[in-house]
Amino acid sequence: MTIPYGRQAINQEDIDAVVQVLQSDFITQGPVIPKFEQAVAQICKAEYCLAVNSATSALHLACLALGLRTGGRVWTSPITFVASANCALYCQAQVDFIDIDRNTGNLCPIALHQKLQQAAVEHTLPDIVIVVHFAGQPCNMQAIKALADEYQFAIIEDASHAIGAIYQLQPVGGCQYSDITVFSFHPVKIITTGEGGMLTTQSEKLFHTALHLRSHGITRDSSEMTESSHGPWYYQQLALGYNYRMTDIHAALGYSQLQRLSSFIEKRTLLAERYIKKLTHLPLKPLVQSQSSQSAWHLFIVQLDPHLIEHKQRIFMALQDAGVGVNVHYIPVHIQPYYQQLGFHADDFPAALAYYRAALTLPLFPSLTEQQQDYICQTLSDVLSV
Ligand SMILES: *Cc1c(COP(=O)(O)O)cnc(C)c1O
Repeated sequence: MTIPYGRQAINQEDIDAVVQVLQSDFITQGPVIPKFEQAVAQICKAEYCLAVNSATSALHLACLALGLRTGGRVWTSPITFVASANCALYCQAQVDFIDIDRNTGNLCPIALHQKLQQAAVEHTLPDIVIVVHFAGQPCNMQAIKALADEYQFAIIEDASHAIGAIYQLQPVGGCQYSDITVFSFHPVKIITTGEGGMLTTQSEKLFHTALHLRSHGITRDSSEMTESSHGPWYYQQLALGYNYRMTDIHAALGYSQLQRLSSFIEKRTLLAERYIKKLTHLPLKPLVQSQSSQSAWHLFIVQLDPHLIEHKQRIFMALQDAGVGVNVHYIPVHIQPYYQQLGFHADDFPAALAYYRAALTLPLFPSLTEQQQDYICQTLSDVLSV
């Protein structure tokens, strides 16, 4: 039996909530979607929330709502899931990356500043910077927002790892220092809807654009139409949208899960702190945590000490053989073959590459027991000492 690196926590209430929808009149967008959206809005202190079928869709809608188009420029972190960069390519825009801070795995505001100064000279400033709250720890948003004001770019927070995280005493998702925040509800994330995502914003305009594009670019609101209504059946397509809708079945699971968000985060935090204590004497380093935020602890990542890096494959396999489901987050996006073919080189972002070589993700999820965690730590200690 392998202990997985991440796992959803489904209880009877979750199951009952889904069954209730299946027995109701609405299976796709019905009353549970706005109920789920309002609950997330309240928790995040966001004015507007839009539920969609994945974070990938939410990222695409966020780019479109911010007006990204052919020739536009988007910068993001190379240490993220590929979706954070792909959303720009969906809009025929160009992607570039900003190197990370190896201590946190988050994009480095100093590297961002340097790249902006150079881009200002070359007239290649970005339209949007997508920050990723890596492993659940919020980025230095205040510093990034100050640069956004100076260099005039929009900010999307890819908070796929970070629902429930706190930055400067405020919940992530309130967009205090950004235009749009995006969450993922994939089963390994903090709460799940099976597949699903959410977009939050304080801007009515951005919300309305994303709302239309979620469902084919269609409106049923006569005040938005180009001619008078043909009758009660009438709708107009005003833009080229998509079907990115979430279903009520998914939203019911999400709403039910959301009721346990704080207990999930509490459990993850306890386990993470316990890992940090138990691993202090081993030749590795957990990611450094900032004082101005509280992580949602989506992932527990360690970086192996330099002398162990050449043995990473052996270490990884020995852990797997012992039933410890380790993982690596992430293979830098810029070294993926698709991005190499766009012209990126592995050593374009040296901190990201060095981080990748040393990184190992240990199992972390709410139902991980202390006994399992002790076993993981003991196994790791054994494996590292041979
Ligand atoms: C999971 C994830 C996504 C994509 O989420 P989906 O809901 O699976 O589309 C995007 N960005 C990051 C950082 C992620 O971890």
